[in-house]
Amino acid sequence: MERRIAWAVVSVPALGTLAAAAWAFKTGVQPIDLALCGGMYVATMLGITAGYHRHFTHRSFQARPAVRTLLGALGSMAGQGPLLYWVAAHRRHHQHADRPGDPHSPHEGGFWHAHLTWMLQPTPEDWVRVVPDLLKDDLAMSLHLRYFAWVGVGLLIPALLGALAHRPLEGLLWGGLVRMFLVHHATWLVNSWCHLVGGRAHETADRSTNSFACALLTLGEGWHNNHHAAPAAARHGRAWWQADLTYGAIRLLERFGLASQLVGACEAKDQP
Ligand SMILES: [Zn+2]
Ligand SMILES: [Zn+2]
Repeated sequence: MERRIAWAVVSVPALGTLAAAAWAFKTGVQPIDLALCGGMYVATMLGITAGYHRHFTHRSFQARPAVRTLLGALGSMAGQGPLLYWVAAHRRHHQHADRPGDPHSPHEGGFWHAHLTWMLQPTPEDWVRVVPDLLKDDLAMSLHLRYFAWVGVGLLIPALLGALAHRPLEGLLWGGLVRMFLVHHATWLVNSWCHLVGGRAHETADRSTNSFACALLTLGEGWHNNHHAAPAAARHGRAWWQADLTYGAIRLLERFGLASQLVGACEAKDQP
């Protein structure tokens, strides 16, 4: 990702959150603003977890084109970078986890490096090697090339819904920028916190951990040690108490015939 785009990814939602906090201090926060923030949080987080991560990066399940488009569009609205950039960085992470070559290991560069400053550094241009499948995938390429349009849609939706309640600016701030800020930092905790703190149920070659709190914030991605043990598995929470809302959403899609070929934990062990 270009450096100035990475700077925008890190700073614009943070500035929007500061503006929303200052505005709220003056005029208060209405339930509609919190509802827009919460609703957009869940939708765009699912775009990252079920879409960008489990479907496009790890091919943990197959889905109808309309579902792939919806998940990829929601993932783009999260504002974490274009699809191929995100997938390439995450595949590099799995290939070199906690070793030289890992773009965001806290054991290679510290907590803040793993959390966000890694994005401000130049990225390798090795897409032909790392994401050859997506380069041949017309639907994925279309999502990738329309990234900024989808980010705009992700800001427009809460602004328009806010306008229905006569609060377009608050809708834009809370459902757009505050939501983006919260989704960013929750997702990035998987890179930082979930390689530093928490339990290790599986003896993987990396130092990934499981974190219940992070799993709640990221709709299941906090079971990160489970994920490193079987990267292609559609389900990250293994035990009944390991909340994994993303897997629940994928199972729901399967029930309606919209998703198929879910990869199980046993068959996923040796897959990328
Ligand atoms: Zn990891
Ligand atoms: Zn992964």
